[in-house]
Order: sequence, then C-alpha cells, then structure tokens
Amino acid sequence: MQQDGSRLDPWISRYAARASSMTASEIRSLFAVASRPEVVSLAGGMPYVQALDLDMLADGFAKMIRERGATALQYGSGQGDPFLREQILEVMAEVGISANADDVVVTTGSQMALDLVVRVFCDPGDVVLVESPSYVGALGVFRAYECEVVHVPMEEQGLNPIALEETVNRLVKEGKKIKLLYTIPSYHNPAGITQPPERRQQVLDVARRHQLAVLEDDPYGLLGFDGKVPRAMRADEPNQVLYLGSFSKTIASGLRVGWVLAPHGVREKLVLAAESAVLCPSNFSQLAVSDYLQNQPWREQIAVFRDTYKLRRDALLDTMKLLMPAGTTWTVPTGGFYSWVTLPEGIDSRAMLPRAVNSLVAYVPGTGFYVDGQGKGELRLSYCYPTPDRIVEGVRRLAGVVEQELDLLATFGPDALPHTEMPNFANTPAPNVR
Ligand code: PMP
Repeated sequence: MQQDGSRLDPWISRYAARASSMTASEIRSLFAVASRPEVVSLAGGMPYVQALDLDMLADGFAKMIRERGATALQYGSGQGDPFLREQILEVMAEVGISANADDVVVTTGSQMALDLVVRVFCDPGDVVLVESPSYVGALGVFRAYECEVVHVPMEEQGLNPIALEETVNRLVKEGKKIKLLYTIPSYHNPAGITQPPERRQQVLDVARRHQLAVLEDDPYGLLGFDGKVPRAMRADEPNQVLYLGSFSKTIASGLRVGWVLAPHGVREKLVLAAESAVLCPSNFSQLAVSDYLQNQPWREQIAVFRDTYKLRRDALLDTMKLLMPAGTTWTVPTGGFYSWVTLPEGIDSRAMLPRAVNSLVAYVPGTGFYVDGQGKGELRLSYCYPTPDRIVEGVRRLAGVVEQELDLLATFGPDALPHTEMPNFANTPAPNVR
C-alpha cells in the first residue's frame, strides 16, 4: 500500500505516522456526486441557511463593520471575544447550564473544539468511548490523534449505561487508559436519538463512579420539534463534563463559530492549544454573531429553523412509511437533522450506494459512523437541506433501489451481487432539475 501511495505522492515517506490515519470520510468522498443537481441528496448535513432573512443579516453586518470595523478586522483574544462569551452564557441557559464566561473558549466551529480537547487530553493509544454509531467528524479527530476508539451500544433511549459500565470495567482490567466518553445526547448525529433525562443521569452516574471525563457535543439541542429543549448533561455535572456548543445550526455554519465550556484548569490548556492552532478565532465572525444575538430575534429564527426541519422530517418519515419495503426500520427523530435506517436483512448499504446514485439519490452508508466495520446494513438519511417535495422524490427513488437490491439478492445471493461503479457525472451536462 505504501508503494502504491508513494507512486502517487512522493512526499508520503516523510509524513508523520499519524498522517496515515487521516483519510477522507465516506461523506467527503460522496460530496462530489451528492452535490449534483439531478441527485436528491439525503447525504450531507448542511443546515438550510436559506431560511435566514439575508437582507436583515446584510444590514446588520454592514452596520457592525461601519461601527466596529477596526475591531472586527483585527486580531483578537485567543479565548474569544469577552462580550460574545457573556452572550454564549445566555444561549447555554436555554439548555439549563449556568456557567462563568471565563470558562468559555470560542472556537472555529465546534469541530475545532473537538480537535483542541483531544489534543489536550489524548496520547496515542488512549481510549475514547463513543456511541454506536457516532459522529463521523469526531471519529476523524480521534483517528488523527491515534486514539483507540471503542463503541458502546446504543438503543432507542441512547447510550446503554450497563454496557457502558461493562466496557469501562473490561478496558480498565486490560490496563487501558480511558480519556473521554464522547456523547451527543440530543438529536444525535447520525442516529436521530435523544436520551431522556433519567438515561442521562444513569450515564453520569457511571461517569462519576469511574472518574470518566464526558465530552458532551450539543450542536442540535435547540432544534427540538416540539419546542422543548433537553437539559444538557453539563447542567447537572459541571465538574465531569466538557460541553461543546455551536452556532452552525442556530445561525449559520459558514460563520464557523462554536465554543467549548470547560472546568477552569482545562480551559487554560484549551486556550493555549487554540493559540498555537489559529492565534485567535475570527474576530469578524465573532462580532457578526455577537451583533446578531444582540440586535436580531434569534429565538424566533431558531423557531423558523425548527418548523422548517419538522416539515422535512415529516416528509421523510411519511414517505418511508408509505414506500419502504418491509423489513426496513428507522428512528423517529424529535429534533435535529437525521434519521438512521436499518435495511432488510442481507443488504449492504455501501455496495448499494452506486446503484442508488445511478437512480439519482444519495445517502451515507452506515459503516462511516463506526471504526470497527459495523453498520453494513444501516445508513443515514438527512432531511435538513432538500425541500419537502425533493425529499418525497428522494425516498421514492431510494425505496425503488432497496426493492431492486432485494431482487438482486434473491437472484444472485449475497456473495455474487453485481458490482456497480459510482457514476461519473463529469461530462454530463447538468439537467434542469432542482
Ligand atoms: N458535532 C456534531 C455532532 C455535528 O453534527 C457537527 C456538524 N455536522 C459538528 C460537531 C461540527 O459542527 P461545527 O464545526 O459546524 O460547529
């Protein structure tokens, strides 16, 4: 493999060992085909920023630059703008957290916060516990820092606390160092599951008993379709939980503003790590967010996002109920962007993908959300971006593909399925389809 690689890339022999674990995720390599206009993409998790009032934003940003341009266009603090950190406390109050602005570190999206936390906590070989399945972007960070990722079973109510405790006991017995439990308790990516309060308490109990640091990732917490906001785990356990937040889904992902809330000592290390990575987060983006929070109806805008995504979730679930072949099951998300689908016995979602893209629908195969080869019979569907009529059309196409896959299985058996290449759209003029 090294030889093949070095023919393609003459630099390969000079890379650090960790570079070999930096590989493109399934989502990334899907992006080129999924973004073709004729393909209904149920693959990417792009927020529907078109639901924002762009004229209002433009006026606000212009005013911000006129009035505070010299600050917005300058370097700033490595920890983030002090006033924005105060405003972030108000956003976190929505999920029940009361904290000190001193313990907030603003980051370039919560993705960077993930990177900083792992950089500060994990040596190669350290264990990170994650749900089954887990967020692909987090798995990429853990892999890049050469952590050993161990999946803990998840069910309808989220992480299974008994399995969690058993896993911890087993790993400790094996002499492993468990550094973090990474969890997305609200509107999970990719599982579409929300842990009820009792379950969160049970998980926290295990964490307390074993002195396990919990990394709570909560970018979707305010996007519950019934308007209820799940109480964050950090709200009940300030000393054991590091909390990640983001404005990507509540304002706009392009601004790249997220944050981490951490106990005092940890915060200091995170700021030092952030300074070595980027000196400081973008002052421009921070002031844009700060101005938006101060002068625009941000809670109302979140309600608009929620209503938009609820309609799309309904389009997805109603059409799956009507059209998906028997034996297909899926989670019913009560917020967020995703539903997790389990296919009829024997279907391999990765092998099926090129046939789906030939039928002009894309999804993310389940294997991308595990490090250990699980997920073959599963896939993630995102309903956040396409309009409801496109979602209906996408599910209609997908249902046809699953039917066809069942026919292929019946004809050829699981070991002799025909191989289909991913279509190459490079020379095809894009037809006039939304
Ligand atoms: N965590 C989860 C669970 C996510 O789904 C995402 C984005 N898809 C992120 C973190 C990163 O978000 P951002 O960097 O835009 O804040």
